[in-house]
Amino acid sequence: SSIDSLTKAEAQTLIQQLRPQLKAWGEAYYSKDAPKVEDAVYDQKYAQLVAIEAKFPELVTPDSPTQNVGGTISTDFSKVNHDIPMLSLGDVFSKEELADFVEHITENEANTYNCELKIDGLAISLRYEAGELVQGSTRGNGQIGEDITANLKTIPSIPTKLTRPLTIEVRGECYMPKQSFIELNAKRDAEGKPVFANPRNAAAGSLRQLDTAVTKERKLSTFMYNVADYEPLTARTQSDMLVELAELGFTTNSSFEVAHNMAEIDDYVDRYTGQRDDLAYGIDGIVVKVNSLPVQRAMGATVKVPRWAIAYKFPPEEAETVVREIEWTV
Ligand code: NAD
Repeated sequence: SSIDSLTKAEAQTLIQQLRPQLKAWGEAYYSKDAPKVEDAVYDQKYAQLVAIEAKFPELVTPDSPTQNVGGTISTDFSKVNHDIPMLSLGDVFSKEELADFVEHITENEANTYNCELKIDGLAISLRYEAGELVQGSTRGNGQIGEDITANLKTIPSIPTKLTRPLTIEVRGECYMPKQSFIELNAKRDAEGKPVFANPRNAAAGSLRQLDTAVTKERKLSTFMYNVADYEPLTARTQSDMLVELAELGFTTNSSFEVAHNMAEIDDYVDRYTGQRDDLAYGIDGIVVKVNSLPVQRAMGATVKVPRWAIAYKFPPEEAETVVREIEWTV
């Protein structure tokens, strides 16, 4: 049976199973840094919920996981208000869906796109006043994050002073390099401590530490790729912004490329799908963004995701067992 034949009552029953399940998995993943299932399993259930809600929009409620940026705020840290929210990304799992997204945007605007690697870490925001780092935070629930300034100051790739005295909020990804992850888990295993499921969870666990000395020895790194507000910059495209952020002293990922059409995006996706295992850090997909920053701003965002970007998620690795058949019946 398919989603087309679902009645509203059946949809409601499925929703009542899916939402608590996804919330429980999200809680384990975000608060405890200990996922209960593979990402691909989570993604599949999430996609099922999205599809049901798309067919029955009247069943969407504000507390649905589809309407909230996943994440938690620990009472261990003081809170930081994100005046400009930190969002998630819409995702697609096939080239066809990616092409649909690009085609839809191209209909409205003559756009070029910036292709970037989707770094498998956690989002951070860094606030600078007159070029000095004053605050660093986690994404939290998107509106409110955790103040982890002291932890972030231990990471060598994060400048405490910019090359120009800008007042600006810069956003990006904090991650644990593959080698650091392997060494950390080997050490923890030898000490009889539980190992981390993956580098993302290890990075999250290492960053949200009360003892900053622990964060420091975990060898974290960062790639910055966004700003809350581009006005303080000269750049007016995503690709120029990455260059300018590097000039300001940030570490950026140099693998980005401007694409003019779907064929070029396709080529980028294929190349990095092939090189994925050779990189020193984990990536879980490719992010395609409208390159013009004013167009990004004009397109805006939903409550959860920007309308000007999409994440193409790599197919799960072979070792991961995923139920391919979606069961729509109750
Ligand atoms: P996401 O991680 O899929 O995508 C959004 C994030 O991508 C951004 O917040 C940013 O941090 C990051 N990102 C990396 N590189 C980027 C770049 N170049 N440009 C822009 N952003 C970039 O979304 P999410 O909402 O944080 O989390 C959902 C993901 O978490 C899903 O993939 C899901 O599988 C996983 N998850 C897993 C479980 C589980 O139990 N295994 C539970 C909850 C969530």
